Amino acid sequence: CGIVGYIGPKEACPILINGLKRLEYRGYDSAGIALIHNNNIQVYKCKGRVQDLEHHMELEDTSATIGMGHTRWATHGEPNDANAHPHTSMNGLFSIVHNGIIENHALLKEKLQARGYSFQSETDTEVLANLIEYIYTKGQVNAENAVRLALTKVIGAYGLVVLCKNEPDQLVVARKGSPLVIGVGQSEYFVASDATPIVEYTKNVIYLNDDDVAILKRDEMILKTIKNTPVSLSIQQVDIDI
Ligand code: GLU
Repeated sequence: CGIVGYIGPKEACPILINGLKRLEYRGYDSAGIALIHNNNIQVYKCKGRVQDLEHHMELEDTSATIGMGHTRWATHGEPNDANAHPHTSMNGLFSIVHNGIIENHALLKEKLQARGYSFQSETDTEVLANLIEYIYTKGQVNAENAVRLALTKVIGAYGLVVLCKNEPDQLVVARKGSPLVIGVGQSEYFVASDATPIVEYTKNVIYLNDDDVAILKRDEMILKTIKNTPVSLSIQQVDIDI
């Protein structure tokens, strides 16, 4: 339902929580955040409000400068803690937040189970997390290529943000049928499912098109298609009254 992500010099967590609150108007049943700190992916998630999530994280070290957040509107699997996003792959290498529906999730899940993958949730999203990890490990490709290759196997709609434990200084972002906006700041990038969480930090935005994949690092952004064709950046100015 709602997505927000950040990479830059600042602490990610307050930006993510603030962003999730800005997205609350869309409605949701669960909320969660993933951060990368000291090469570890930390995930906090629960059924309920963003406020419940904040409570849940109160005593944790959340000083990371990269992360992503999600508010879920359940389509596959009831609203509960396990089904809340982010979803982490079985061996902990990837964590993802996802808006939309992976329509061929049942078949992909069967194939992954036959290859030894087990699942913690009933979501279509966890299938994609494990598919990315399977392709990354089996194909010995980098995170960006694993995401692109996984998406060529997927039927459905997605707005997606991916964290990889082994490539802790980037967000990989992709969209098809579910909107995503990139905010371009000073040595920092934002991503969100609409511009409302971004406008207080920067007015410079890039609206992704279907089949776009963006790689966001602190000092550069690369935009291409799922098929690896470069896409030129077209930065626009937003001005939303908030
Ligand atoms: N299909 C996913 C789920 O049920 C994502 C739902 C959403 O867009 O919030 O978890």
